[in-house]
Amino acid sequence: MDFRFPDDVERFRLEVREFLAREWHPDPAWGDTPADADRTFKRKLATKGWYALSIPKEYGGLGLPLLQQFVFHEELSYVDAPGTGVGVAIVAPCLIKYGTEEIRRRFIPRIISAEIDFCLGYSEPEAGSDLAALSTTAILDGDNFVINGQKMFTTSAHRTEFVWLAARTDPTAVKHKGISMLLVDIKSPGITIRPLHAMDDTRTNVVYYDNVIVPKENLVGEINRGWYYITTALDFERLLAFPIAGVRGIFDQIVAYVKQTSRGGQPLKDQPEIRSKLARLSADLEMGQLISHQAAWKASEGQLLSHEAAMIKTWSSELLQRTCHIGTQILGLYGTLQYGSKYAPLQGRIERAHRAAVMRTFGAGSNEIQRNIIALRGLGLAR
Ligand SMILES: Cc1cc2nc3c(=O)[nH]c(=O)nc-3n(C[C@H](O)[C@H](O)[C@H](O)COP(=O)(O)OP(=O)(O)OC[C@H]3O[C@@H](n4cnc5c(N)ncnc54)[C@H](O)[C@@H]3O)c2cc1C
Repeated sequence: MDFRFPDDVERFRLEVREFLAREWHPDPAWGDTPADADRTFKRKLATKGWYALSIPKEYGGLGLPLLQQFVFHEELSYVDAPGTGVGVAIVAPCLIKYGTEEIRRRFIPRIISAEIDFCLGYSEPEAGSDLAALSTTAILDGDNFVINGQKMFTTSAHRTEFVWLAARTDPTAVKHKGISMLLVDIKSPGITIRPLHAMDDTRTNVVYYDNVIVPKENLVGEINRGWYYITTALDFERLLAFPIAGVRGIFDQIVAYVKQTSRGGQPLKDQPEIRSKLARLSADLEMGQLISHQAAWKASEGQLLSHEAAMIKTWSSELLQRTCHIGTQILGLYGTLQYGSKYAPLQGRIERAHRAAVMRTFGAGSNEIQRNIIALRGLGLAR
C-alpha cells in the first residue's frame, strides 16, 4: 500500500509552494479581502494555468487528473491564501459534467482566466438544511426564465459576476424534482444585494430577485434536474473547500510558537499538558489527511463521492475548531487580541481563524446533516 501521491503530483506541489512563498503576502488588515487585491492575486494563479488544471484541453484547460487540483487547493489553504473561488472549484467541474457544449464554451474560458467568478445562491429564509424546500421561482416565459424570491447568506454576491442559482422551475412537482440550476448575471435588473456582516469580518448578503430575466441558455443541464447537480456541486465544495492542509497550517504555527516560547522561565514545550494536546491534534491531522487523500484519489479516478465528502467536511471543520481552541489556550491572554494588533502573538492569525472556524461547521451543509449523509449513504441506514 502506497500512501503517497504520484511523483509528478508531488513535484507540482513543490512548484506551487515555491510560487506562493514568492508571491503571497498576507495583509494584516485583510479581513474581507479587498476585491481588487483578491482578483489580482487570482489572475496571477490563472495565468500560470492553475485555474484550469483538471479542465479538459478542448475548453482551454490542462486536462490533468483532479489530484493536481486537490493539491493546489491544499497548498493555497496551508498558507491561508485566497481560495480559487466557486467558479473554478464548483461551477466549471459541474458544467463539464452536466452542461451543454454551448454553455461550457461560453463560461469556462472566462472562469479559468479569473475574468468572472460565482457566488452560491442556495439558502433562503425557510430553506437551509432542508434545501429542497426552497421557494425562489424561475418560470419559463418564452426564451427567458423570470426569477422571483429571496436568498439568504449569498456570500461574495457583492464581489462576483454570476450566481450559481437554485430555483424552483416546477412548483407543482414534489420538492426535490422541481428544482433547476441557472447561471445568473449578478448585474441583472431586479437584483438587490444587502449586506450581512459575519463574526469573522467577512461579508455575506441577502439577495432579492424581483422579476429578474435570465436567458434560457443559462440553464445548467436539464430543467427540473437541479437537485442532482446540487448534490455533485456540494461534493466538490466539501472536497476542495475544506482541506485538512489549512488546519495543518494553523497547527504548524502553534507548534513553532511552542518551540520558541518560554513563560515564567519555563519553555512551553516542556509542559506536559501542552505536549499531550498537541500530540492528540497531530494524530487527528494524520487521520484527516488519510480520509481526504483517499477521497481526492477516488474523485480523481472519476468515481462519485458521497459520504466521503461529508466525512472530510465534518472532520476538517471540527478539527479546525479544536486546533484554534487549543491554540488560543496555549497563546494565553494575548492570544485573544485581534488580528492585526501589534501585541497579538502570531499576528493574531489564530484569533482570526478561531472566529472563522465557527462558520465552518454549518457552511456547505451543517455537520449534523453530514452525519445523516454518512449514516445513510455510508452505512446504508435508510429511514
Ligand atoms: C457566514 C455564512 C455564510 C454562508 N454562505 C452561504 C452561501 O454563500 N450560499 C448559500 O447558499 N448559503 C450560505 N450559508 C448558509 C448555510 O449553508 C446554512 O446556514 C446552512 O445550510 C444551515 O442552514 P440554516 O442556517 O437555515 O440552519 P437550519 O437548517 O435552520 O438548521 C438549524 C440547526 O438544526 C440542525 N438541523 C436541521 N435539520 C436537521 C436534521 N435533519 N438532522 C439533524 N440536525 C438538523 C442544523 O444542523 C443546525 O444546527 C452561509 C451561512 C453563513 C452563516
